[in-house]
Amino acid sequence: MIVEMRVGATQEQLDAVIERAGQYGFDVQLNVGTDKFVVAILGSDTGRCPTENFAVLPGVQSVTRIMRPFKLASHEFRQEPTVVRAGPVEVGGDNLAIIAGPCSIESREQLLETAEAVVSEGACMLRGGAFKPRTSPFSFQGMGMEGVDLLCEARAKFGVPVVSEVTDAHYVDRMAEHLDVLQIGARNMQNYVLLRAAGETGKPCILKRGLSATVTEWLQAADYLLAAGTGGVILCERGIRTFETSTRFTLDVAAIGVVKRESHLPVIVDPSHAAGHYELVPTLALAAVAAGADGLMIEVHPHPEDALSDGLQSLTPRSFAQLMAQIESVAHAIGRGVQRPSGQ
Ligand code: PEP
Ligand code: MN
Repeated sequence: MIVEMRVGATQEQLDAVIERAGQYGFDVQLNVGTDKFVVAILGSDTGRCPTENFAVLPGVQSVTRIMRPFKLASHEFRQEPTVVRAGPVEVGGDNLAIIAGPCSIESREQLLETAEAVVSEGACMLRGGAFKPRTSPFSFQGMGMEGVDLLCEARAKFGVPVVSEVTDAHYVDRMAEHLDVLQIGARNMQNYVLLRAAGETGKPCILKRGLSATVTEWLQAADYLLAAGTGGVILCERGIRTFETSTRFTLDVAAIGVVKRESHLPVIVDPSHAAGHYELVPTLALAAVAAGADGLMIEVHPHPEDALSDGLQSLTPRSFAQLMAQIESVAHAIGRGVQRPSGQ
């Protein structure tokens, strides 16, 4: 942490900063400039100390952290890229993981039909929303635990791991008993009670980026899961709020590179929620693969016109199949492959 003193700060004010550092057990290194003092506060756990506790002292101009505000998710903590495992699926290795399925689980027929289609086209994990965090309380809220049971049936039938969103800490343990991966939705990225509860189950988690979250805040949220003992964090970029309205959200492709630079965690992309429209999903999906994403999460519905949620952004099985072929081509062009579902 670097404390910059104001021009004209007194020796007494400088001494107060040094004394404060001493109270915390930190060392200091004093730099005497031509017209101001700069104090480096040194210690391996300066992150525990709020910068405000120095900023409030008289004569202080600014306080800047040198260490990243996230720890367990950072490259400093672990140099090697982390590969997150869910059953036979690996996220973060050479081969991309393509996760697909409906936005919401609506019925047994709908889920099984979608699962069969996406797995036969090469999706290695099945998604399906059982508890839906809808903007309006009057929209379809999901089938709840019944939906989770249907996911288990689909897993038994098609042999792929299953993921679903947890929206409430009360359901976390029950869902963790059944699911292979827990999904934390964008709206809950900073629900720290939920993050802790999900992390404590020891299950791998897909952590969506919050609608207006910076990459730093997203990685700090990942720290909550990691600190609680999660079986692995898969970050998922799903678009952020900007002034642009022609897409549902703006896909932050650069975030893929930023995450790779700052963190050891794998990052996947959800092109469906960013696009908001089925025609734009391939553009974003292929851009994400080209940019180095470790996988994709794509919404697919056998009859998007009847979907109870997100029909407009859902691919049909046919368009999903076409996209899978393009994904393979782009993946190969950058020296990567696409994981096959186990048994294929
Ligand atoms: C979802 O994946 O179904 C979902 C609700 O996504 P997000 O949390 O990114 O909006
Ligand atoms: Mn959706």
